[in-house]
Amino acid sequence: MKLVLATSNKGKVREIQQFYKDYEVIPYSEFIDEFEIIEDGITFKDNALIKARAVFNAIKMDNIIVLADDSGISVDVLGGEPGIYSARYAGKDANDKDNLYKLVQSLELHNVTNSKAYYTAAIAIVTKESEFCVHGWMYGTVLNEVKGDGGFGYDPIFVPEGYDKTLGELNNEIKQKISHRAKALSLAKVILQTL
Ligand code: IMP
Repeated sequence: MKLVLATSNKGKVREIQQFYKDYEVIPYSEFIDEFEIIEDGITFKDNALIKARAVFNAIKMDNIIVLADDSGISVDVLGGEPGIYSARYAGKDANDKDNLYKLVQSLELHNVTNSKAYYTAAIAIVTKESEFCVHGWMYGTVLNEVKGDGGFGYDPIFVPEGYDKTLGELNNEIKQKISHRAKALSLAKVILQTL
């Protein structure tokens, strides 16, 4: 089955392709030029559906399944920030490194070395006939120290519950078993099997 991903985030594409080995997972940029999608929802679910619908409508092919991931990290000491704004925490054109260091700086401004935090992933599926959305979460702690270079985004400062290393240091296979994205993708797989 062909699954079109409504993302060009390389970290997400890699993880989704590794998770769905039985599917042909293709970033939408292989069908059409990338375009800006205004993510103006107020929840992860809103934004995942906005992205999946935008790509489904732009590709103009009835027989495709579009899958979108909207995700982010929520930090307790920051009152849940950056949450849905995780990709733009350090500003509109910020990259993963800028956002990571901005979060480290925010912890320091709060005079803490760590805080409880969790990742959320909303996975939306859009076809000609139907729309779905499922979620997954991963709980842990964020540190004010960057460790390891595995994963992507905030992974080098995130220690999952039950571990004593960051996702930047842990083997990628571990992340693929416990992550917010893995949990949402396994629920999404049940839906895909019915389509
Ligand atoms: P989105 O593309 O609007 O969904 O933004 C997601 C942002 O959340 C990414 O740019 C990362 O900063 C962060 N994020 C989401 N999932 C992960 C993850 O698995 N590891 C690290 N950072 C993540």
